[in-house]
Amino acid sequence: MIDSLQSSAAGAPQLGERLQRVRSAIDDAARAHDRSADDITLIVVTKFHPASLVRELIDLGVHDFGENRHQEASAKARELADQPISWHFVGQLQSNKAKAVREYAHAVHSLDRDSVVTALGTAGQAELDCFIQLNLTDDARRGGVGSDGLEALAERVIAQPSLRLRGVMAVAPLGEDPRRAFEQVRLMSQRLQLLAPDATRISAGMSHDFVDAIAEGATHLRIGSAITGIRPAQG
Ligand SMILES: *Cc1c(COP(=O)(O)O)cnc(C)c1O
Repeated sequence: MIDSLQSSAAGAPQLGERLQRVRSAIDDAARAHDRSADDITLIVVTKFHPASLVRELIDLGVHDFGENRHQEASAKARELADQPISWHFVGQLQSNKAKAVREYAHAVHSLDRDSVVTALGTAGQAELDCFIQLNLTDDARRGGVGSDGLEALAERVIAQPSLRLRGVMAVAPLGEDPRRAFEQVRLMSQRLQLLAPDATRISAGMSHDFVDAIAEGATHLRIGSAITGIRPAQG
């Protein structure tokens, strides 16, 4: 309802235009930091939006989509099973959902504790791309592993043959300078690469801070509302 009001309002940019604006902002930021935009994957986060919006985005050339709740993600994946989509699971994962998430997910960005690593690793044999989620706050209830737990968790991932450790993921804490937060992420990514030289990816940057994330080396942006518009109420 909010969405339809928005898109019918005079002067409100449409989906294609919002996507185009984000893509050109990514290109500009990449160029400003001597990076190639080809090395940056845009994941559009479609949580709370219907499968029909995903279809529209596919028509606009998007193939990587992010979801943060298993039930919603699996329903959309089922509905869009015939579409050329890579699903990225970016939310808190419960161990008892690991097997079900594997059925549609191309990558899981939110590995943050041993139990989830073991559950995902033993729930299937096909290789699954994984990111270790970093907690950049002092609040242990937040998703992600703290700085001093990074290496130990990485060893657990490496020990699971079906998990392909790709890199780190983080959300910049609210109310802090995102550039400084993403600088920490870059440094932790370098630490991880001492253990896992191929784990070079950095999943960071959302609607309001992706330019700072690109400046600090983000390779995978998770962008929702800047492209999809205001999210409908959680249903
Ligand atoms: C919702 C969400 C995003 C996208 O957020 P926007 O601010 O809408 O761009 C990115 N990452 C995670 C983990 C999310 O849950």
